[in-house]
Amino acid sequence: MNIDLFDILRCPFCGGRFELVTSMFHQSIEDQILDGILGCHCCIFPVVDGIPVLHLQANAIAAREHIEAGHPALALRAMVGLEAGDQAERFEAAAASSTSTYRDIVESLGPGFEGGYFLYRFSDPTFIVANAVVRAVAGTVLQGRRRAVDICGGSGHLTRSLMDLSSPPPVLADLYFPKIWLGRRFTAPGCEPVCCDGNGPMPFARGAFGYAMCSDAFQYIWTKRLFVGELSRLVEGPEPGAVVINHTHNSLTWSPSHGQPLSPAGYRDLFEAIQPHVYAEAGLFADVVKGGPIELGRVDSPEALDGDPALTIVASQHPGVYRSHPIEAAPVTGEFRINPLYAVEAAGEELRLRLQFPNADYEDEYGAAKQYLPAEAMLRRDDLAALTAGQVPPALLDLVRRKVIVELPRRYY
Ligand SMILES: [Zn+2]
Repeated sequence: MNIDLFDILRCPFCGGRFELVTSMFHQSIEDQILDGILGCHCCIFPVVDGIPVLHLQANAIAAREHIEAGHPALALRAMVGLEAGDQAERFEAAAASSTSTYRDIVESLGPGFEGGYFLYRFSDPTFIVANAVVRAVAGTVLQGRRRAVDICGGSGHLTRSLMDLSSPPPVLADLYFPKIWLGRRFTAPGCEPVCCDGNGPMPFARGAFGYAMCSDAFQYIWTKRLFVGELSRLVEGPEPGAVVINHTHNSLTWSPSHGQPLSPAGYRDLFEAIQPHVYAEAGLFADVVKGGPIELGRVDSPEALDGDPALTIVASQHPGVYRSHPIEAAPVTGEFRINPLYAVEAAGEELRLRLQFPNADYEDEYGAAKQYLPAEAMLRRDDLAALTAGQVPPALLDLVRRKVIVELPRRYY
């Protein structure tokens, strides 16, 4: 962790500032704390492999004891959930290799870690809507001189969308340590990961951010009122900020992995200070499929809201938020590759791509992708070679727009 984080980190229990306990085991390089113990008025917490762990679940206690005993490698094992044995060694070997991909590390963590869908995340319908909303709202309120936080951000797929908008770099917060560890290394290099519990008070100072968001996770938070109160506290300040909740499920309409969602009216009632705008995801999705703009000035009918399995919530007093926004891609930092949802076969000087969903469950949940992913596409080999070299030939721009070609983090798979 960068020592500048001390300005915004606060104990979730006493609200006090932290300092590095220099009388205990610690390792630092220049302005980065690699391993150590942070102390506040009430408690001590570990920093494990550069990530502050600011909760008191069993793995965090075990990790703290390992750091106190001067064994940072064991602390990392405790936080990734691999205490001993072959699996832990596989993870450590993959983590130590500079050529490992995101997929290699995911596989080293074993079958219990994450479903295989991460490969397709950057083209799934949930992602493309959230990405457009995030870039529109964060771009408006941050203006490149305030900071964003992605809470319950998992391995940072949407934190990546904030990298050029947030200054200083965005914070990626999640309870699940291996995900934020992956996010920092692959998905959103340069972000600041913080391990904390979304069901408790947030370990950040009031007004530390201009933009706070939670995507595709709010339905799993039980303490929803506390959570919204906390996100609102984090963006309080003289300049208007924004709270955004992307893709939260709707208690009035069933969806896969339903969680404990509320109705649209229930979500509105969580917000005390600012009246939020609640959108049916289908309308925003249609905006994105037609190439924009994304219309945040829209007011969806009660029927549209009640009938949509997923909702987007935006709360801001910034005058530029509730209007039409062009859809703008982030600057390219990764590499363009053929979407792994396509099977590729040679056809002379060309390649024939065929859309193939990995299974029926995926198609059930993400089948709306067929509105932009064509069933078949042709690609010239020399265009593909240019793409691999980092150029997008004009002939491929439409395939990029339609997500047949996707920009992925380097060493993703
Ligand atoms: Zn404390």
